[in-house]
Amino acid sequence: NWKKSVQESNISQITFKDIGGLHEAKEELAEIGATIPKGFLLVGPPGNGKTLLAKAVAGECKLPFIFRSGSDFEEMVVGLGSRRVRELFQQARSYQQGCIIFIDEIDSIGRKRYSGNNHTELTLNQLLNELDGFRPRENIIILAATNTLNVLDSALLRPGRFDRQIYVSLPNQKGRREIIILQTRKLILSKDFDLEEIIVLTKGLSGAQIVNMLNEASILSIRQGKREINQEMIFEAYDRILMGPSLSSQVLT
Ligand code: ATP
Repeated sequence: NWKKSVQESNISQITFKDIGGLHEAKEELAEIGATIPKGFLLVGPPGNGKTLLAKAVAGECKLPFIFRSGSDFEEMVVGLGSRRVRELFQQARSYQQGCIIFIDEIDSIGRKRYSGNNHTELTLNQLLNELDGFRPRENIIILAATNTLNVLDSALLRPGRFDRQIYVSLPNQKGRREIIILQTRKLILSKDFDLEEIIVLTKGLSGAQIVNMLNEASILSIRQGKREINQEMIFEAYDRILMGPSLSSQVLT
């Protein structure tokens, strides 16, 4: 299962152009090449582009991308989590040109160490050791994502570790506009498709919810045998998204 859950590293095709909004985050991440820091923490609610940003950094730098989820390091057997951390960094060092490591849901291993779970503590200690063992010329950049900072052990946030935090929040008006434009580029839109109205409608939705809504509208148009996506379909798709996945068409069809 471990093997299955580990996505093999490869060069990401995604670049900053594929991400709507998040201009400040992109600017900060674009400085990576110049400053070569070790660790960045991407912080924010689910579905707003943390993983996408990490892939885009790899795509922009044309470096291999190694993806792990914090839960990949869970200890089924004592010592397994820390071994996997060691193996991750060994793999990272095996790339001559450098690479980007992304650990999603870092809180699974990085929680504050008073929980009394010694196994998790071993894994976290190993991660801290690896971070401290980096040399700048190794050209390994490590990005990690979490929904909230305050669950993380403060040791992770010390200088030289994940000392830079980038907030990835819900898309604002400009961000929603860009996400909608990006996602509808390849769709056929009816004359009554009203971008401005949709920007207002989607206030409070995550990037992922907006993308899902547009996919849902696209499914509706196919189901109705129509070539174009109209505003009515957008409203219906919006309702479905808000009703939650149990009522969405993926389940109904
Ligand atoms: P999680 O915390 O759940 O891992 P995340 O912040 O990593 O979420 P992503 O996996 O990057 O979120 O985003 C999920 C999907 O939502 C993306 O694959 C993309 O389709 C869409 N998406 C989210 N934000 C954006 C954005 N700013 N621009 C374009 N697409 C976006």
